[in-house]
Amino acid sequence: MAELSGLIEQAAGLLRGARAAVALTGAGISTASGIPDFRSPHDGLWVPADPMQVASQLTFRYAPERFFEWVRPLAALIQRARPNAGHQALAELEADGRLTTVITQNIDELHGRAGSQKVLEIHGSLATATCVMCQSTWPGHLSLQRFVEDGQPPRCPACGSLLKPNVTLMGEQVPAGVMQAARSAVRLCDVLLVLGSSLEVMPAAALPVEALNHGARMILVNFEPTYLDARAAVLMHADVNAVLPRIAAAVRNETNAHT
Ligand code: ZN
Repeated sequence: MAELSGLIEQAAGLLRGARAAVALTGAGISTASGIPDFRSPHDGLWVPADPMQVASQLTFRYAPERFFEWVRPLAALIQRARPNAGHQALAELEADGRLTTVITQNIDELHGRAGSQKVLEIHGSLATATCVMCQSTWPGHLSLQRFVEDGQPPRCPACGSLLKPNVTLMGEQVPAGVMQAARSAVRLCDVLLVLGSSLEVMPAAALPVEALNHGARMILVNFEPTYLDARAAVLMHADVNAVLPRIAAAVRNETNAHT
């Protein structure tokens, strides 16, 4: 544990000296809020449905009822979920001026609910939905709540066609605008926190390389090894929700001690 304390202090030191720090978060930050890593083959909750197949653009087009059947328990979990200490620590770092942006692969909106202001949701969220026919966009929560209750897929109030939640499905491109904003954030940062992401899903997995190639130093906290472990300035194979509040507290304590 002494070793972990040293790493937390190192991470806090990097953040204190940062000109612009950015966080990239993955499923690992939300598991403590009860949201499973639905892309992980190790998580049995979604078996027998294969998310790679069910949460795909093709399935949505040809068998939307299968997609909605799969997304229903996930939508219910997201509605009930509360931000945890990890989400809160990032919101605090931002409020203290220690973090400019959170880029997240998660669709659960928990960063926003924790109070983070600048959040780039590169896989979208369930907050809005778009009609497959007339392309109009609608608030997603109300229709989703009805859907969670009665299982009726959400329909467009204008034309009655299916509403597709604005989340990026397998086989779909990540929206260009949000991806561009994420790229420019990582290029401009000098410290990148990678938190609870195994860096296996593109294009998010490539963002840290852009940061590193532009001279940023990387703090990487994830249970499992990633392909970029060797390039981390501070590497912790640890629970992000246990470590992150300690990093935020260390940044804050040191700040207080000097003011
Ligand atoms: Zn419509």
